[in-house]
Amino acid sequence: MDLAPGVQHYVDRAKEEMRARAEAIAEAKKWRFDTIAVHGLYTVEEALSRNQGAIIEPMVMATSQAYRDADEMEAALAYLIPTWCYARIANPSVYYLEWTLALLEGYGFAGETSCCATSSGMAAIMSAVEPFLVRWPGKLTEPVNFVSSCQVYGGTFRQFSVRQREKGNEVRWVRHPENLEEWAACIDEHTRFLYGELPSNPNIAFFDIEAVAKLAHAHGIPLIVDATVATPALMRPLLHGADIVVHSATKSMTASGFGIAGALIARKHLVTNIPNDALREDFASYVKFLPNRDNGPNISPIQAILTLNDLRTLRPRMDRLSRSSQQVAEFLHQHPKVERVDYLGLPDHPLHQLASRYMVLADSEVDPLYRAPVNRYGHLMSFRIRGGAAATRRFFDALRRIYRATDLGRIKSVATIPAISTHQQQGEEGRALADIPPNQVRLCVGGEHPADIIADLEQALARA
Ligand SMILES: *Cc1c(COP(=O)(O)O)cnc(C)c1O
Repeated sequence: MDLAPGVQHYVDRAKEEMRARAEAIAEAKKWRFDTIAVHGLYTVEEALSRNQGAIIEPMVMATSQAYRDADEMEAALAYLIPTWCYARIANPSVYYLEWTLALLEGYGFAGETSCCATSSGMAAIMSAVEPFLVRWPGKLTEPVNFVSSCQVYGGTFRQFSVRQREKGNEVRWVRHPENLEEWAACIDEHTRFLYGELPSNPNIAFFDIEAVAKLAHAHGIPLIVDATVATPALMRPLLHGADIVVHSATKSMTASGFGIAGALIARKHLVTNIPNDALREDFASYVKFLPNRDNGPNISPIQAILTLNDLRTLRPRMDRLSRSSQQVAEFLHQHPKVERVDYLGLPDHPLHQLASRYMVLADSEVDPLYRAPVNRYGHLMSFRIRGGAAATRRFFDALRRIYRATDLGRIKSVATIPAISTHQQQGEEGRALADIPPNQVRLCVGGEHPADIIADLEQALARA
């Protein structure tokens, strides 16, 4: 490309900055999971040279960046140099969050990853799927479909079955995502991607990521996975062939419960039948700098730094919460008033073996506590109370320490009845499809001592 000499000057000047960034990324890739979570790309040098030595990443609230002259502005707005041009598009605080997530989700992955943070988990899902649902000349009137596990978060169920349908895009539901033939039977030449959530909220569905990714790739399409419940501390789908991972960063990634956030993390050079090289080469950057620039579902710098602060302790927190959850699940499992417990850590759960292949605490083999890979299954479970909806409501109303709230991932234990909360809007038929009965309780175990959580459950079960 022939650039005006003034513009070229800034492009040359930016080479040093680009080199420093690449070096910081290469350095961070040598670290263990916890070190990446604590530091990300924010270095001592950067703190001292740019941020008055501040040891915590700055929360840069400015809406825009000033330029020295017209040439620098032109170079920046053409994305020829790193820029914080306008905070809907790029912002330093968001940059640190995005790189920490790209590195954590890509931990142990041989290829390159990148991330685009969003204002919510739902915005991350929308941003991840819509680039694959576009029409282009020659294909303007052809039908478009995608295949999804029906065991997805209630908001996702509605986004796919209502919002995408409004746009003329067909969702084909897979009822039993652990059954590969069901996925295969839904795919045709108009299918743009496969989508699954695991472990799913609230039913803890699980599927063989590697097998579903292979199936997708055999048809030239990507696999998109919602791994919100596992977090990269317990499972990293990109290592097993998935192309894109979406997260509600509102949930287990952040314990504090201080706001809504989301992210998508993608492998570079993903598999797609969409004729768009930029999309294929670096999906997350493509989304960030083009569709999301135009649509605007970006994250705010405040939320980026709050999320980053919680992420620093992600691995030890998920370990601890998973161990407490295991105890709570075992208690519920033997309780006479409990009809059924869905928790992947229970050895007699039908998906326990499959989940054990994928859900492993990061770095447990180098953790002096374990010195071997250990399975951890997260802190979300669901269970069903004997005696139907009325008994379930009595139990629920009797909880004293555990909060009644439609939330999960908190450091405080939280419970909900999905049929009257998260899955209310999808209606009787949608609930039957996703198997959400009125006596199901979703419990997300927090950081309290497990004996105190069990005591609360015990006294409430006595009232069911
Ligand atoms: C909550 C949730 C979402 C939606 O995330 P928001 O941040 O609330 O928009 C998506 N997927 C899963 C699995 C969730 O639990």
